[in-house]
Amino acid sequence: MLRKIILASHHGFCMGVKRAINIAEETARDMNGQVTILNEIVHNEAVVERFNQQGVGQAFSVDDVDGGVLIISAHGVSPDVFEKARRKGLKVIDATCPLVERIYVIINRIVGNGFHVIHFGDPNHDETKGIVGHAPEHITVVSSKEELLALPKWRDRKLGLTVQTTAHSSEFADIEKLAQQKWPHLEVFNTICNATTKRQAAIMDLAPQVDMVLVVGSQTSANSKRLAKISEAICGRGILIGSAAEIKEDWFAGKSGIEKVGISAGASTPEFLVEEVIERLQAISGGKAEVIVPQKKNRVKRATSRAD
Ligand code: SF4
Repeated sequence: MLRKIILASHHGFCMGVKRAINIAEETARDMNGQVTILNEIVHNEAVVERFNQQGVGQAFSVDDVDGGVLIISAHGVSPDVFEKARRKGLKVIDATCPLVERIYVIINRIVGNGFHVIHFGDPNHDETKGIVGHAPEHITVVSSKEELLALPKWRDRKLGLTVQTTAHSSEFADIEKLAQQKWPHLEVFNTICNATTKRQAAIMDLAPQVDMVLVVGSQTSANSKRLAKISEAICGRGILIGSAAEIKEDWFAGKSGIEKVGISAGASTPEFLVEEVIERLQAISGGKAEVIVPQKKNRVKRATSRAD
């Protein structure tokens, strides 16, 4: 029987996602004519669908955009994409997160000072592609320890290590340690963003208290998948769900059913999806589960409880 529903103290939309959505909404409202978002504005189907319903187009290549306004998503793009869009006469509105832009600045500066950059991240992620495009000949992307260890010795080369904003902090700590052993002269630039760090710390507080964590987020959201992986490692069950519809009643049924469930959400997940998950869980418990919303780290306040 489900008795407790505990919400992660930090979850859901981050600053960069809120900003990108606001920029896209304002642009869609204020501009006449065709407005197209390049790539997904954020990695969440519900948000993407809402823009589609407002008549905002979606493209995955500048080649597919014929005119009007082009919005760059929070994950950013490489400079040649901007150039191509301008050559086509498109008006470009840039919603790249400032914390992704910070990586561009760091990379441009250190490459200008003769460094080669090792970037830890997913080579297929939009953010990584944008970063690499800023200095393609001076960046090597690695996505695992094995790839890092396979790199040359580079004894006489100035080296910098950067990281995807949404990387797992402890995985990056391992990469950093290995890299420093291999190249003692390496400079480390920890570019994991605050939103990621806070959401990962919150889930590490939450997961030991529960039998299962449900992370609300899209399968295409790197940070949501990571939160589910962290939960799985700590409490044994960390499940990524796109919406309340994916919750199965039999998880909570019988003597061995889940009693305490934690909820978190990726940085691109709108709050209404989290609220729907809480409502569904409450319904499954027959309105008896206590909902706990932590206010601050290590301090919890009861929000609503129909059990009282
Ligand atoms: S996860 Fe971090 S880097 Fe990415 S959009 Fe949010 S604040 Fe920006």
